[in-house]
Amino acid sequence: MPAPTRVQTWQALRPGCDVLVIGGGITGAGVALDAAVRGYSVALVDRGDFAGGTSSRSTKLVHGGLRYLPQWQFGLVREALLERERLRRLAPGLVRALGFVVPLYADTKWPLGIRIPAALRPFAPFALRAGLWGYDALSRTDVAHRTLRPDDAVARVPALRTEGMRTAFLFHDAQTDDVRLTHAVLAAARRSGAVTLNYAEVIGMETPGPARAAITDRLDGGTIEVTARHVVNAAGVWAERVASLAGPVPFRIERSKGTHLVLDAPALIRETALVIPETDDGRLAFAVPWRGRVILGTTDEPSTEDPDAVRATAGEARYLLDHLNRYLNVRVGKNAVLSAYTGLRPLVRRTDARSAALPRSHEVVEHPGALVSIIGGKLTTYRQMAEDTGDVLVRRDGRRTPSRTATLPLDDTDEAIAALIAADPALSHVLVPGLAVREADVVYACRAEQCVHVADFMIFRSHLALLDREHGVGCVAGVAHLMARELGWTADETTRQVDEYRRRVAAETAFLDEL
Ligand SMILES: Cc1cc2nc3c(=O)[nH]c(=O)nc-3n(C[C@H](O)[C@H](O)[C@H](O)COP(=O)(O)OP(=O)(O)OC[C@H]3O[C@@H](n4cnc5c(N)ncnc54)[C@H](O)[C@@H]3O)c2cc1C
Repeated sequence: MPAPTRVQTWQALRPGCDVLVIGGGITGAGVALDAAVRGYSVALVDRGDFAGGTSSRSTKLVHGGLRYLPQWQFGLVREALLERERLRRLAPGLVRALGFVVPLYADTKWPLGIRIPAALRPFAPFALRAGLWGYDALSRTDVAHRTLRPDDAVARVPALRTEGMRTAFLFHDAQTDDVRLTHAVLAAARRSGAVTLNYAEVIGMETPGPARAAITDRLDGGTIEVTARHVVNAAGVWAERVASLAGPVPFRIERSKGTHLVLDAPALIRETALVIPETDDGRLAFAVPWRGRVILGTTDEPSTEDPDAVRATAGEARYLLDHLNRYLNVRVGKNAVLSAYTGLRPLVRRTDARSAALPRSHEVVEHPGALVSIIGGKLTTYRQMAEDTGDVLVRRDGRRTPSRTATLPLDDTDEAIAALIAADPALSHVLVPGLAVREADVVYACRAEQCVHVADFMIFRSHLALLDREHGVGCVAGVAHLMARELGWTADETTRQVDEYRRRVAAETAFLDEL
C-alpha cells in the first residue's frame, strides 16, 4: 500500500489519539514504537525533520561509555552495554561491532579522564586493564578486550605514534547511523499503526486529561487542535520550552555543545577506531571510521547557544585536530577536513518532580495532568528510555500491558530500495562517485520516509553534505529534480529548495575559511 500523503497524514491526526509524542528524534521515535506495540493509538510530530536535532549529531556509537566507569556509574554503563548487545541482535544491519585501540603513553596524565597522581602513574596500565575487564564483564560480551604490543596497535591504526607508548588495548563497542536508526524505529512505529509527521510544531497545550495540543504546519502555516489522553514530551534540548507550554517546568536541561569533524583520511583510520586517551579538559575523544571517512570528536562545553543555530567554530576544529595530531606520526591538517557537525547534549541538571525512573542518566518526569516528559539519556539507551516511559503510561491507565520492544527486530531499508531499483534500474545511479548514495535513496526518502526538503535529504538522510568534498553541490540539482517529480514541485519551488541548501551549506562550512 502506498504511504499516505502529507494531506492524508494531517487528516489522520484530526480525530485525536491515545498518545501524542512531541519530538521525532531517537527518543520520541522509541516512545512512539513502544506505545504503539502496547496497543495505543499514537501520533508523533516534529517541528523539523525527523532526527534533525541532536539525533543526527552524535558520534554514532552504540556503547556503554568507557568514560563513565571512573565515575563509578556502573548501573548506567551496564544498562547501556545490555542495550548495545540487544540492538546488535535486533538491528544487525544498523548496529555493528567496532574495535577501538586505546594507546597509553608514558606522559599520559589523565587516561580516559581518570586523574592519576604522578606517583601512581606506573600503575596506569593496570588500572586501565581492570576497567576494560569490568567493561567486558558488564556487557557479557564474548569478544573480550586484549592487550596490544605497539606494533600490533600500529597494524590496526597505521599512523599511530609509537614513541613513548607504554602499551595499548583493543576493545569492542558498536557503531550505527543515528539518522537511519531513528528512521528504522519510526518505520516500525508506523507499521504498528502510529501516525508520524515532520514540520508539525506543537505551539500550545492544555493538559488536564484529555489534553489538547495546537499543532501548526511549518510548511503551510495551518494549525489544528489534537486531543490525546497522554502527551509525551520527547523534545530533547527543547524539552523545557515544550513543557512550559503546559505550566511550570519542574526540571532543567543543561546543554553541552559537541562538535565533530569529518575527515578524508583513508590512510589514518581504516576499520578500527582510535581512542584519544586524554584531552586537555580531562576527557577522552574518538577518531572513528565511518562510511569511508573519519569522524573526529568531540568537544564538550556548556552552551547557552540557540539550539536552532548552533554551529562548529574554527577554534573547536583546531582543538580536535591538535589533540588528534598528538597521537600520530603524521600531521592531519586543514586539507583533510571535509566538514563538521555540532549538536547539543540534553543533560538533566536537576529535578524536583517525582521521577518515575530509576536513578540513571534519563528521567521520566510526571507533570500534573496528561503530560509526561522523558529527558536526558543517550542514543544507545533510547529503547530502555521508551520502555520506562511506556511503563508510566500503562500504570497511569491502570493497565498491565508490558513493553514488547526488547525482542522486536528493526528492519533495514535494503530490501525496499532493491525493489525500487528492480522496478526502475536507472535509480541505481550513484549520486557522488565513491559514496554509496543512489537515486533510489532519494525516491525512497520521499515515498516512505516523509522527506520534504532537499536540504534534509542532503544533510541528514544521506549525509552527502558531510561526506563529499564538494558537500554534494555537484549532485544537488539532480536530487531536487527527483524530489520535484515525487512531490510535484513547480520549477520555482525546485530552484528555491536548491538555493536554500546552498545557503545552509555555506553557513555550516563557514568555519573552514578561518581554519
Ligand atoms: C556531540 C554529541 C555526541 C553524542 N554521541 C553519542 C554517542 O556516540 N552515542 C550515544 O549513545 N549518544 C550520543 N549522544 C547523545 C544522543 O545523541 C542524544 O542523547 C540523543 O540523540 C537525543 O535524542 P532526542 O530524541 O532526545 O533529542 P533530539 O534528537 O534533539 O530530538 C528532539 C526533537 O524534538 C523536536 N521538537 C522540539 N520542540 C518541538 C515542538 N514544539 N513540537 C514538535 N517537535 C519539537 C525537535 O525538532 C527534535 O527533532 C551524543 C550527543 C552529542 C550532542
